[in-house]
Amino acid sequence: MAVLIDFDSLHGSVAPEILDAAYPVAEDVDDLRPHSGGALGTVGQDSPAPQRAWAGFVDGTLTGRCECGTVTTGPENFCVHLVAVVVAALNEAFPWSPTATLPDTLDGPVTAPPPGTAATAGGAARPPESPESTIRRLVGVASTLPPATLALLLAQHAAVDPRLESALLTAAGLPTAHIVKSS
Ligand SMILES: [Zn+2]
Repeated sequence: MAVLIDFDSLHGSVAPEILDAAYPVAEDVDDLRPHSGGALGTVGQDSPAPQRAWAGFVDGTLTGRCECGTVTTGPENFCVHLVAVVVAALNEAFPWSPTATLPDTLDGPVTAPPPGTAATAGGAARPPESPESTIRRLVGVASTLPPATLALLLAQHAAVDPRLESALLTAAGLPTAHIVKSS
């Protein structure tokens, strides 16, 4: 897979003072997760004004949207929050998609369906969920779980699903070559 971005290219694009400010903040990025093909994280979770920031490759260009109001194309225009999310994502060997879409909203949790919808017998009234909205919905559910619960759930499934195990190791920047059935 082609490398879309690395520390070198980031350093080549972003002003040094923004980088200097972003690195300490990147240590404090919480809740980093894939969203619309890019990386979504909450910057400054412990500060009075945490900002959710999203960065991803839209039409091949690193693009960002941040709660501080920054919506821009090109890392050279990123706010500190966006650079921090990119740094945090690089630290975690984040699987960037080359075809991300700028999300309309940075809100993770999806609103619950109106009461009665789920209980409706027959259920033909509701159109089938697209894969993307299923992911959004499940991300919303997952983001409400404590990290330890989430980790256990993921590990239990990864233990019996080699593809998930491989994806998990890749996301963690660990080699996956050792995954061989029944050794
Ligand atoms: Zn920002």
